[in-house]
Parts: sequence; structure tokens; C-alpha cells
Amino acid sequence: MIGSILESSPDASLGPSEIRIELADSATAPQSSPIALDGDGFEVSRGAESIVIRAGTERGLIHASTNLLEKLGAQFPPGVAPLYPRIETGRLAALEPFRVTPAFKRRAFISDIMTWDYNFPDRLELHLRHDCEFIPWMARRGINAFSYIRHAHDTRLKIDEVAPLLREHGIGVEYGGHVLQLLLPRDRFAEHPEYFPAGDDGVRAARGNLCVSNPDAVALVRQGALAYVHDHPENELLHIWGADVWRGAWCRCGQCRELPPQLQYMKVVNAIASELAADSKAPPIAYLAYHDTIEPHPGLKPLDNVWFEWAPRERCYSHAIDDPTCEINPRYLESLKRYIEIFDGRGHIFEYYADAILFGGLGFATPAVVASDLRAYRQLGLTSISCLTFGAYSVMAYPVNLEAFVRGSEDPDFEPGATLVDTAGGRHPRCAREMAAAYRAVERASKLCLDYADVMHPVMPPEKAARKLNELREAALVFNEAIAAADQIASSVDTRLAGAEKELWRYSSDVLAGMSDYLGALQQTGVHRHIWGAAAITRVTDAFAHIRAIDPEIKGTWGAYDLEWIREMWIRALQRGLDGIGKPAEELF
Ligand SMILES: [Zn+2]
Ligand SMILES: [Zn+2]
Repeated sequence: MIGSILESSPDASLGPSEIRIELADSATAPQSSPIALDGDGFEVSRGAESIVIRAGTERGLIHASTNLLEKLGAQFPPGVAPLYPRIETGRLAALEPFRVTPAFKRRAFISDIMTWDYNFPDRLELHLRHDCEFIPWMARRGINAFSYIRHAHDTRLKIDEVAPLLREHGIGVEYGGHVLQLLLPRDRFAEHPEYFPAGDDGVRAARGNLCVSNPDAVALVRQGALAYVHDHPENELLHIWGADVWRGAWCRCGQCRELPPQLQYMKVVNAIASELAADSKAPPIAYLAYHDTIEPHPGLKPLDNVWFEWAPRERCYSHAIDDPTCEINPRYLESLKRYIEIFDGRGHIFEYYADAILFGGLGFATPAVVASDLRAYRQLGLTSISCLTFGAYSVMAYPVNLEAFVRGSEDPDFEPGATLVDTAGGRHPRCAREMAAAYRAVERASKLCLDYADVMHPVMPPEKAARKLNELREAALVFNEAIAAADQIASSVDTRLAGAEKELWRYSSDVLAGMSDYLGALQQTGVHRHIWGAAAITRVTDAFAHIRAIDPEIKGTWGAYDLEWIREMWIRALQRGLDGIGKPAEELF
């Protein structure tokens, strides 16, 4: 940035998380700060001829160095190389001291292990190329944890190939996910059906979680969890979740049926926690508040090393979590407050700001919602936040939200409007104005769409459907405005990335137009319902051609491969809804 290369050398007088930049050829002693730095906090202080960067941790030092460069005009936008503009050397000398203590202590990204497509070497390679860019970006922006979600069919619990990269960048790892089913191996069923959950009819089956009234089943799960902790000492938070379904995964046997899912689940979690409590090196355990456990039960009695992990997947993203005018969110906020009370403040937030499944793979931007949410979470005393991502696809489709999340994890009072403009400019420096206009349109469209949970599964009461039909049609037109704004980009500018985003918005526009038609079809009866419905579904199906046109290096494994099978699920669900045999949205995932 200053046009010359600085020599670097180790200095025994500096602490392990300290850097001194000499501005002149002097060797004045660094000014050591008397104030201790908490956690990943950092400060940049000034000597007469030097700048000293100190952090509470080494990973804090990576964040601090990036922060310093940002103050000097560098940019670290999601999904593209950093921008280091040329500056006058005087800027460095004029740098004012500053200090940062991240507002949240745990700042995590989360991904489903299956999205690495690890059984296919070429797909895995594609994801790993993304990881090589994304993990350093996370560290530079102050993210300090990465959490893997394992599903019952996964043969891995982490991606070994990225472990060194995470370690080098000081990013902690967390394992677990929907693992209760794995902790009670299904092959035990033949000899011990009594370990497994019973249905309403009392018949036991090798599905769902376990019979929590059976002490041997609980002991088996506890042993499995302890082995897990023992085998993976680097795991910083043990996520022990039940099967990823609504209803039906918990036991309805004579003894269990009086216990609601929350209490059945807590019984298992506490059984594991009581064993781990004696081990000072053991990680805390996360109790997932999600689907049928999102409502706290007053009878919950978590042990001290159990934290709730609140995952409000079906909340509204058109409004902030604490927006009293929203028809959906107040109930969620209430549930969160009660969880905080029951767990004495020990809680993690699991957010969906970049969830390509929830958002149907459409492009969205909700920086103002991210800002208000994070302020609300902080005000409730919570210090742990995380955001689900789908690799490169999330970076392509939700770059503004990722940027908002990393800014907000450091300081929730960040400015959402500027975040959107900076993200557009950072990703598209040669057509910043056009892309900022496009991103603003995407933000307006987002507000019209994100208040009915899964975008691809429009199940709602008739009054809302009548309103939504118009709002989705409008949103489709607003996406066309985004495309029109991007069409203004001069032909001399290389628009490979902008071209990909335009395809994403064409897809988004077509899907929303199709969804609007679909809601219209549902209001019809008889033959009209089927003719209109089939046409609407065709419109949605055809929209995927736009995603297929995007370079796999930009849309990643999820866009290239996973979207193909998820699309089939979406289309089948739309078809079933038309036939009047649709399942409620909450039973699909
Ligand atoms: Zn039972
Ligand atoms: Zn709302």
C-alpha cells in the first residue's frame, strides 16, 4: 500500500501476540500498554516512531492487522481478493491509536459436512479451493470458531483437509450435529428394540432418537458421547442434537409419553453433561432449541455445563427479531428470553442469514435485520453468535449478510446501509455504483419474501397467501430492477462475477414469479388449480437453468451438485401441495 516492502524480523522483547511497525530507522522501545486485553480484543498504540499492534490472542492479532489495514483504506470483501489501495506513507504516521473488544466472544460460521460432497474427489476439491480463500477471510474478519454439522448419513464428523488451515488461523473447531442417532447405533435394534423410541401405537422402530426411560439406552448414548469427546480433544463445543425432524423422533412409550420432547432431550444431554462436568478439559454441551424444542419447557433443569443453542429457523427475516410489528418474531423472542432465564444466560445463537436451503437458493440481502438482531442479542446479554453457510454458494448469494455478520460480531452498532454499499464496491470495484443499486434492489425484494420460512415451500393461511401472492410478484419485478441496474455496467468492464450474480437474480425473479403463480393456483379449484399449478411449477423448474449457467468456481459444490437434488424435493413438495396432500413446511427439513 505504501509502495515498498518492509523487512520483518522476530523480536524477543515483543509478546507472542504483538507486532511493532517501525516507521523510522530507530529502535525505540515499544510503548507497552498497561491495560490487559480480554480474549480476542486488540489495540493499536503509537510510539514516537512506531505503531504497536497487541492482541489478547494470536488470532486476535490476525484480526487486528486486518483492522489496521482497513483503517488505512484496504478492503476485505467476502468472496474476492482483498483490495490494497496505494496510500501516502504519511497516512501510516498519522494513524490514531484505537482499541477493539469484539462484542461477541464466540463468532462462528457453521456448515453441514455433507455440503463438501466428500465422497466425490473432484467435488471435494472444488469445495477445498473455496475453503482456501474463505478460512483466511474468516480469520481476518474476526471469526474465531467453525462448527461442523453431522447428519445421520454422514461418514465424517469434520473435514480433515481443512483442519490445518483452521488451526493456522486460530479458528476453533466444534463437532456434533444431529448425532443422537449415531450415538445409539441402529444395529442394536435387533437385540434391544427397547432402546429405541416407540410410536404412539407403542411399536418401537430403529428411527428417531432413543427411549430415554431405558437406562441402558441412555448409558450407551452417554458412553458414545464421552468417547467422542475423548477422541477429539480439539472440539471446543459438543453439539448433541436429535434427529432433524419435527415430531416423531422422541419416544412415546408408556414411560416416556408423559415427557415432552424438551424434557426427553434434556434427560440425555444432562446424562452426558454430568459425566463431563468432572473433566475440566471437556467442552460444554449445546442443547439445541429448534423445531419441537424451540419452545422452552418450564421443567428444563440444565446442568451448569449445558448451554442452549437457539436456532429459530422458521422466524421472519423481513423483520428484526425484536420488531414488535412483526406477526411472527415476537413469539420467538419470547422463547429466547425464557431460554435465557432457564439457562441462567448460557446461550448460543444459531442464525440463518446465509442459509441457501431456507432461502431457496435465491439471492437475498438483509443487513438491517442482521444489525438489529445482533444488537438485540447483545442487549439480552448473549455473547455467542453463529451463522449457517453453504460454502461458496452463500458467498455468492448472501455476501452482504456475511459482511454484516462479521461487522456485527465485532460491533453490532455497524451501519447496515454502508455495509451494503461497501460489499457491492468491494466485490465489484470497477462497477461499484451499478452493483450498489442492484444490491439495494435485492434488499427491497428480500423484505417482500422472507416472512414465511422456507421460500420454496409457501404454506400459509389463505389471507396471508392472498397478500403474499402480490408481494412475491412485486419481488420478482424488483429483482428485475437489480438485473437492469447491473445491465448498466460498461461493456469494457470484466463482469464475470457480476454476470454470475445477474444469473442468480434472474433465477430469483423467475422463482418468485412462479411462486406467486403457485399461490394463485392454490386459490383455484378443480381443473384450473391443476393447469395453473402445473404452469407455475414449470416456471420454477425452468428457473434452475440460470443457476446451471453459473461457473462452479463461483456457485461452489452446493450450487453445482446439492441444489440439483434439493430442487427435486422442492418440486415434489410443490406438486403434493397442489394435489392437496402437502405436508406442512416444518416437516420437510
Ligand atoms: Zn420410552
Ligand atoms: Zn415479520
